[in-house]
Amino acid sequence: MPADRLLPSTEAEDLLKLTREIARDELTPLAAEYEEQGRFPREQFRLLGRSGLLGLPYPEKWGGSGLSYEVYLQVLEEIATAWMSVGVGLSVHTMSCYALAEHGTDEQRARWLPDMLGGDLLGAYALSESQAGSDASALSTRARRDGDDYVVNGSKAWITHGSQADFYTTMVRTSDDGGRGISCLLIDAATPGLVFTAPEKKMGLTGSTTTQVLFEGARVPADRLVDEEGMGLKIALTSLNSGRLGIAACAVGLAQAALDQAVAYAKQRAQFGRPIIQFQGVEFLLADMAAAVESSRATYLEAARRRDRGLPFVRQASIAKLVATDAAMKVTTDAVQVLGGAGYTRDFPVERFMREAKVPQIFEGTNQIQRMVIARHLRGM
Ligand SMILES: Cc1cc2nc3c(=O)[nH]c(=O)nc-3n(C[C@H](O)[C@H](O)[C@H](O)COP(=O)(O)OP(=O)(O)OC[C@H]3O[C@@H](n4cnc5c(N)ncnc54)[C@H](O)[C@@H]3O)c2cc1C
Repeated sequence: MPADRLLPSTEAEDLLKLTREIARDELTPLAAEYEEQGRFPREQFRLLGRSGLLGLPYPEKWGGSGLSYEVYLQVLEEIATAWMSVGVGLSVHTMSCYALAEHGTDEQRARWLPDMLGGDLLGAYALSESQAGSDASALSTRARRDGDDYVVNGSKAWITHGSQADFYTTMVRTSDDGGRGISCLLIDAATPGLVFTAPEKKMGLTGSTTTQVLFEGARVPADRLVDEEGMGLKIALTSLNSGRLGIAACAVGLAQAALDQAVAYAKQRAQFGRPIIQFQGVEFLLADMAAAVESSRATYLEAARRRDRGLPFVRQASIAKLVATDAAMKVTTDAVQVLGGAGYTRDFPVERFMREAKVPQIFEGTNQIQRMVIARHLRGM
């Protein structure tokens, strides 16, 4: 059952209606098969682009829709309910556009943003390295200035859309000055010297390709530097503040999908002569799942509304990511329980939802890192 939403305008209601139609007709029917085959849904991202869904929170001037985060995140949640890999991909793409949209020059934005926001170009966000995960400031991929180019050497790990994206918003080291020595380059996928490893063999989210990206003397034109040298870590972390809201919305979408499956099953499965939804042990489980989904949604919406009003929202974004992704893990696990033995088979999607729910607790800052962010705010730092 789609979430009962209070939307701020009729325009937003129409957009949600369109999103639900696309989700129902174009995404849900393909999700299980693509995930089983580990197939990347490139065509579906083109469709989202053509439907105007790949640049929702960015200004219309650059090809976006100029929508609030409050609305964008609810669209994202609907997509993730239909297909988590596409929801996460939409969120990562939106985050990969952030650097240029917020920190690029007008010339850079006019040159690249319309294609990035229109769906012609799919993005990736490349911060993590094998030795620099939670401690991103330890990254060592190096960019050395050589005439009109940067020459990039090193490797990025765990890159969502690796080998599939058209551009990589990449954090590189331009000096040895710790976090202040990091810069942001917008790197074209076709750059010679860019090499992709085989996709990681993951527990879930198998339709979303994740690879390492190797830079072997890749020459990147200097006009691809976003903002000044040394601004890369700040750009990376502010991108993540908003990106985390996207992951929270995806987690709520996934949990909603699991809840819907569990309720539908519990209504039709009979034991001891009646539908199992009539047993208090089952209906209380379902009630707790519904409470977790709706309170998580309220938490990300509160953070989004603060962001939309220009208020501080970093603490709230970390809380939303922590609460929503932990809730999704619990709700999807409980959905498997409601389906009993059937839930443990691949005949029903809830086992896949449970596998997909694990990684949102890990990426875009593990939930331990979210607790550190929240605690830092409590200490007043
Ligand atoms: C499927 C997938 C997709 C991803 N996509 C991207 C992407 O598109 N772009 C990108 O840049 N990265 C991406 N990542 C990387 C992801 O952000 C990192 O995996 C994550 O930040 C954790 O880093 P790590 O794996 O190196 O774990 P580590 O940092 O090694 O952490 C290991 C454990 O130690 C804990 N830990 C570490 N430091 C502390 C501390 N100070 N206090 C308490 N606990 C701590 C962590 O919480 C974790 O439980 C992706 C990861 C996955 C799995």
